[in-house]
Amino acid sequence: MAVTFTVALRGVPLRRTYVSHYDFFRVPQTLFFRTDEAGQVTVANAGLANVTTDPSGPNGTITVTVHAQNSVVRVLDGSLLTPVEVTQNFTVSNGGIININTNAEQQDHFRIMDACLRIYDTVFRQFSPFNRAQRQAFPFGQAQTVTATRNRLPRIEVVYPDNSPSVLAYVEPASLSTGFPLIHIKHKSVDRRLFGVPDPVQDATAPIPPGTQPTDPTLIPHELAHALHMALIPDTLRVSVETQYLGWIAGRVAAGLPPFHNTNLATTPFVAWIEALGIFSERYFFYANRRTPTLTGVALRRAFFRDELSAAPLLKTTNLTGYSQAATLNTAGSVVPMLTGDNVEGAIYGAVFLDFARRVGLREVVGRYLNSGNNNVLTFDDFRNLIINRTNFDSHITQVANTWGL
Ligand SMILES: [Zn+2]
Repeated sequence: MAVTFTVALRGVPLRRTYVSHYDFFRVPQTLFFRTDEAGQVTVANAGLANVTTDPSGPNGTITVTVHAQNSVVRVLDGSLLTPVEVTQNFTVSNGGIININTNAEQQDHFRIMDACLRIYDTVFRQFSPFNRAQRQAFPFGQAQTVTATRNRLPRIEVVYPDNSPSVLAYVEPASLSTGFPLIHIKHKSVDRRLFGVPDPVQDATAPIPPGTQPTDPTLIPHELAHALHMALIPDTLRVSVETQYLGWIAGRVAAGLPPFHNTNLATTPFVAWIEALGIFSERYFFYANRRTPTLTGVALRRAFFRDELSAAPLLKTTNLTGYSQAATLNTAGSVVPMLTGDNVEGAIYGAVFLDFARRVGLREVVGRYLNSGNNNVLTFDDFRNLIINRTNFDSHITQVANTWGL
């Protein structure tokens, strides 16, 4: 016998989510499993039951642990002095459904976990290196067993609610515990960009004050982009990025300036380069979700940059929070930027993810961006040099640089 059941979050199947089962009489006592794309998982002893009489079991009603970890992130409980992985126990029997839908079941942690997977699948999975055969559903690949895959590095972690001194969310590029990115997210009552206003999940313990400005849930699409990008860069570079990036955030906070990312903000070529990917990820995710009829693949990628350069971008007409247009096309079909300068994140976003993309394709551009960290690229200048050295897109990247004042 074995026990097959479905794990859901507020009625929606939780995909690629880790589940464990403990049996005192089994070796090993704890076995790990993972839900499939329909949220279904089968707990079986897999021939490991050398003490009990049922090698294929268990059966009947069993207790299982659902982990706030899927193939994309692991979520930690930030309310503890030392954050630990969020887990929740349930009893279930064959054919049953576990439905996480209360605060007692830590539903917000599971919402964050699932949002990361949806953003990864919608935005990043189609681009190199994540689109390679050995990655796909697993941003950093798989090991031989479910247990080993669960614990292998790189691994992106998220801590919620974050109790660090920072007033807003940020990504720590090289965390102390893993050496890989840790996304810090403040409690939803502090940073409403997390689940948006209104939040589709009402919470009597943290009500949204009447009159609160409507906000789109842009936080996770933005921060996950930083985490994925930083996880791909070499270890030594990641540590230097940590110093520069956290220094910038801390400096903004100390100066009384919000460390919010702002399309029009003039910062440094380094910060603008890092932030451009965050802008791209937010916009691509919301565009994919709001576009009707729905598009996928190359059709979606093409429609995205064409729409962003059109007279009436979808995210402008649908009022995405914080949206400002980067460029339009003139009657001759040339890009007319609304922002310029290599220290302006909106200009880097427009130059790379719109202008360069319409010349050589979005998949080419995003793949080049994500892989460029391996060549120590942390500014547009470095990127241009890499493109000139490695590709035949020299004239394209040069024209892009001229157009955007880079
Ligand atoms: Zn950012």
